[in-house]
Amino acid sequence: MQEVDGKSPYIGRYAPTPSGWLHKGHASTFGWAKKRADQVGGKIYLRIEDIDPARCRENYVDGILEDMTWLGLKWDNDPRSVKGWIRQSEQKQLYLDVLSKLHTAGWIYPCQLSRKEIRGHPETKTSPSGEILFPKVLRGGVNMERSSELNLYQNWRFAVPETDVVFRDLRLGEKRYLPGRDFSDFLVWGKNGFPSYELAVVVDDHLSAISEVVRGEDLLVSTARQLLIYAALEWNPPAFFHCPLVCDEQGKRLGKRFDSLSIRELRQQGLCPEAILEVDENL
Ligand code: GLU
Repeated sequence: MQEVDGKSPYIGRYAPTPSGWLHKGHASTFGWAKKRADQVGGKIYLRIEDIDPARCRENYVDGILEDMTWLGLKWDNDPRSVKGWIRQSEQKQLYLDVLSKLHTAGWIYPCQLSRKEIRGHPETKTSPSGEILFPKVLRGGVNMERSSELNLYQNWRFAVPETDVVFRDLRLGEKRYLPGRDFSDFLVWGKNGFPSYELAVVVDDHLSAISEVVRGEDLLVSTARQLLIYAALEWNPPAFFHCPLVCDEQGKRLGKRFDSLSIRELRQQGLCPEAILEVDENL
């Protein structure tokens, strides 16, 4: 197998969330991920990101596995799991261990405030992408809270440092995100007793030794947040390749609500897997 930077073998991943049927947007991201891995004879693991019990459904997990098989998207055996692929809901303890490390190191603090309270605060701003930014004045004294007990049924936020996050995306080049403008103290654990997407994804990408993350451009700011978690844990981050988003004829981004573009619907319309997985090289 070819080496990346002469250091590690190429390992990518497919990481669908079973909160709906697999749609054209997923297929496009997976098409990019497959192409990237195939170019270097690399591996791709499968991870079902079912960490949020309120959004995820068992029938969608089955549907994803079925649709991926129909699309011809094979995955390699992830040695971390007996069945060869990961389900986040089955490994809560791993996230908890990492949360506890962040807690001991003073990176996180508990936050009792509701979304409504945060939104209503006079210092709350919105990021260019429309995200509500948690104002720094509401931050708990991080060092003071270090000794507070790790209660898993409350929200925990990551105390974002004042420095810009800069990284090189393998498709888009250098990207720079600013705390207080593009993102702010973000959730790493929810009061539902589960880790946030940002925490769970970093833990899994690290433990599965993922060398390159291929994901949609809509997650660029998430990547910036995740890089802060990597830095706090002193873990080496993977490389990142943010692929273009699939848009409809009006140029609007597709989401899960566009049921008519679910893979099963397209399959019923008679489309073949190759046509669905095709990636647009010009983007
Ligand atoms: N689970 C996410 C999704 O289905 C992908 C997250 C990622 O690639 O990190 O959109």
